[in-house]
Amino acid sequence: VPAQKRGSQYPETIRHSRRKFTTPTQRRYADVIHSASKSDQKERVVILGSGWAGYVLAKHLDRKKYHITVISPRTYFVFTPLLTDSAVGTLEFRNILESVRRANTDVEYIQGWADDVNFFEKTINVEPAVLDPKQSYALTQARDTPEASKLIPEEEKLFQLPESIHLKDRVPVFPVKYDKLIVAVGSYSQTFNTPGVRENAYFLKDVGDARRIRKRVLELFELCHMPFVTDETRSQLLHFVVVGGGPTGIEFAGNLSDLVRQDMSKIHPDLVKFVKVTVYDVAPKVLPMFDAALADYAMKQYSQKNIDIRTNHHVEELRKGPPRTRLAQDKIPPGRVFTIRTKEDGEVGIGMCVWSTGLMNNPFVAKALNHVHRFPTKSATIDEGRLPADSNSSAWQIKRHPKTGSMIVDNHFRIQLESKGDSQPTGHAIMQDVFALGDCTMLDNLHPPLPATAQVANQEARFLASMLNKHFDRSAGKFSADSYDKDSGFDYHNRGVMTFLGGSKAILQGPETERAGAGKRLKGFLAYLIWRGAYLTMTLSWRNKILIPVQWLTVRLFGRSVSRF
Ligand code: FAD
Repeated sequence: VPAQKRGSQYPETIRHSRRKFTTPTQRRYADVIHSASKSDQKERVVILGSGWAGYVLAKHLDRKKYHITVISPRTYFVFTPLLTDSAVGTLEFRNILESVRRANTDVEYIQGWADDVNFFEKTINVEPAVLDPKQSYALTQARDTPEASKLIPEEEKLFQLPESIHLKDRVPVFPVKYDKLIVAVGSYSQTFNTPGVRENAYFLKDVGDARRIRKRVLELFELCHMPFVTDETRSQLLHFVVVGGGPTGIEFAGNLSDLVRQDMSKIHPDLVKFVKVTVYDVAPKVLPMFDAALADYAMKQYSQKNIDIRTNHHVEELRKGPPRTRLAQDKIPPGRVFTIRTKEDGEVGIGMCVWSTGLMNNPFVAKALNHVHRFPTKSATIDEGRLPADSNSSAWQIKRHPKTGSMIVDNHFRIQLESKGDSQPTGHAIMQDVFALGDCTMLDNLHPPLPATAQVANQEARFLASMLNKHFDRSAGKFSADSYDKDSGFDYHNRGVMTFLGGSKAILQGPETERAGAGKRLKGFLAYLIWRGAYLTMTLSWRNKILIPVQWLTVRLFGRSVSRF
């Protein structure tokens, strides 16, 4: 297939190459290899992920020194601290997004998932995120009829694969070369394998999740407006449950209550009496990162808003359909009502459950990185010195946190290796050309560990970018690992924590320092003003620094957008 025909699917720099690959898909697409243009002699830094760590790093790396490629399924960066605002319409979705392409026109971007890494050959296998495996399967099926075949454009024929190949393998996976790899793939939402949660809960990690939540909230109000819905069902459908009393769950509950009080009360005044918001948490208190006085203040605010915070509650199941005890008298299709079952309260009928109980390892970090048998141990350093060149590289594995499985990195963000079982040699090694940061990592020897926050990921990314820029050896035209080794490592500066409580209230707790002792504590309106100011300052583009206050003002004057789409 001529290269220009494939152009719409792949970046311009895709070149033909006839390398040997192992899986059928790789063999089929061996010619679809992505590499920087031959004239570009700069070292290739490939960043996996466009979140806080990946996006900020790409933004601060010097493009004159490195050829930068970002690989991520998201074409955008999400400003997560304001995601709960967008889920209820206080902000529009575009207010919290930064386009990876627009912000970095000289950074190459591939919309795909990193599938596998070969650390030895320095390649990443990328699965395009623009293709859904089912879609490509449908395409191959459609080709079976001669008429349909004529309609399929040439570049799509690239995906035609023999029936014998597994559905997943029909999506072409292609390798991307790197000189330096940065793993910043973040984490996934934790469900603790609670039955029905993965299928029925609403999560809040990405802008797509916020869109789904907003649509569901508005849908529930419209549904309850129907004459055939009984009051009993209304009180179930308008029962909103948040599971997880961390800052995300608490902020969402506050935002939802604002939406109900400030907008729904005007649009659906007859329905407001049915609305109930409950927050469940397994722990004895919510907002564990705040001191008791601030957490109590938050609880008091929430009880005034009729938000029921139920601590020490264990969620056992979330399923479609009404509670078993209830008589099915409404003509609402099953599935409109959900049932949440807790050990303490039994079954309760609800309209939606937003699940925010922490993080679990990204599958790429959990599984894919383990598939690699060969690490570049020749270039790795061992505690006592350099590894012998003939060392058995399969004797090493990535060092992980025993509970979370996240990768352990040193304070230079190099992934740490440890010897597997009783294999030889024993000790610890560090991968030289692979860095990892953000939520998918944990810094070695830090007690307590740094929290998984944007504040941490942002500082880590800025540090690594400045180090890669600083230790670029002009005469050699590449990064100098030796001088980087000698530089001091990353030092985290805690700037404190804050949480929005709905209305015009927030809580803020400054960092604890040895000299000043406990950090400053603020609550109420002043904390709210600082909360808004801080996030506005942290917003990454001038476009959004202007749009966000305009949107806040618009909502204050005219209310939130309540159109459902
Ligand atoms: P992420 O930002 O999650 O980015 C991961 C990136 O990797 C994404 O672009 C993803 O698409 C991509 N990716 C995933 N798998 C692959 C793969 N296989 N290949 C390639 N790319 C992949 N922190 C604060 O400090 N303050 C707050 O107020 C705050 N509020 C929050 C509110 C919400 C609703 C949420 C969800 C989080 C909040 N956080 C907050 C936490 C903060 O957002 C995270 O700690 C931060 O996003 C971590 O950054 P990261 O780059 O490691 O991961």
